[in-house]
Amino acid sequence: MISQAVAAETTGPQQIDFDTLQDEIVRLNKIVKVLMDRAERSATMQGSDFSIFQTTVLLEEQVRQRTAALEAALRENETITRALSESEIRFRGLVSQSLVGITIVEDNSVTYANETFGTMFGCETDEVIGSDPMDYFHPGDRQIVDESIRRQLSGEAKSIRHTVRGMRKDGNIIDVEIHGNVMEIGGKRALISILMDVTDRVRAEREVEALQQKLLEQAIRDPLTGLYNRRHFDQVVIGELARAARSGKPLSLLMADIDHFKAINDTYGHQAGDVVLQNFAASLRDAVRISDVVCRYGGEEFVVLMPEVDLNTARANAERIRATLRSAMPQGAGLPSAVTASFGISTYPAHGQDRDSLLRQADNALYLAKASGRDRVECATV
Ligand code: GH3
Ligand code: MG
Ligand code: MG
Repeated sequence: MISQAVAAETTGPQQIDFDTLQDEIVRLNKIVKVLMDRAERSATMQGSDFSIFQTTVLLEEQVRQRTAALEAALRENETITRALSESEIRFRGLVSQSLVGITIVEDNSVTYANETFGTMFGCETDEVIGSDPMDYFHPGDRQIVDESIRRQLSGEAKSIRHTVRGMRKDGNIIDVEIHGNVMEIGGKRALISILMDVTDRVRAEREVEALQQKLLEQAIRDPLTGLYNRRHFDQVVIGELARAARSGKPLSLLMADIDHFKAINDTYGHQAGDVVLQNFAASLRDAVRISDVVCRYGGEEFVVLMPEVDLNTARANAERIRATLRSAMPQGAGLPSAVTASFGISTYPAHGQDRDSLLRQADNALYLAKASGRDRVECATV
């Protein structure tokens, strides 16, 4: 009976938990005590019962060895437990002091949030627990977040990463980058999210983008008049010609050149000349459609690309511009009382199929307008 009880304890120490080990040591010590008592009693009452005594000694040795093994296992267990608890403390420290917000969401509610998350959203960690994760996002971005949570929990997406607008408790909006992962916790799917406040980064990115946009814009603009420059015209005309070819619609090119501009400079000065150029550019821009591309092509030379405009319409437009130029140009001391311009027009496809031939034809028409007395509109001839 006794030996069976002891022999039954053959489970490896590493598989026994702390409480079981302690219970077993207590139980084994009791068994030893009972056996020792019985051996003593046998020796006094019936004389030396050698076999019982021998069994007892053997058992005692067995129990001693088992106890030592169990105690070693206990020590090991304690070491592991201590290491585990230290590592948990370290982990908790790491998580709570982390620069990123960390949350666990289970069953549509936040079950864990670190301090950084609270700081990020301007609330106490305690009030976060049990709250709806959607509370922390801008209404305009909740659908994105909701869809992302659904995809993760359904297993459709293993992990996600996106930037959305977060809502602080004080109502301020922050830009938040979220990295999400799904984990099994206690047999249930939980969503572990890492959140970073990227407001400054996003703002900087927007500024860089705006700056790049500005630089791009500057690269295609003439600084004096604000009109597009020749570089832009050269790029745009290729696309417009291709579009006209596809659609079968015309494309007109208007070239305008201020008359006797050199004399304006000479009489009123270069600065006055600049003002005339600016005013001429403004009246040209005001006179055409938004879809027309107005460019300063050279010193006092301008081109207007008019998509889907035939020759007759282009001529009518040019006449209108020419007629209104005089009244459109501001008068004043130090400025010429009258500024006129000459115009030459060519139209795709009648006068040319490519940029150079269209430009050449418009330039020829312009030359004709100059030669015919200026302040005129002339069209290319087939
Ligand atoms: P035409 O009637 O035949 O066109 O004669 P024009 O005097 O207008 O033409 P010309 O080509 O002889 O002179 C153009 C002048 O435009 C010469 C140049 O100094 C001046 N010019 C070019 N760019 C600018 C500028 O940005 N500002 C000013 N103020 N003048 C400029
Ligand atoms: Mg001129
Ligand atoms: Mg000129």
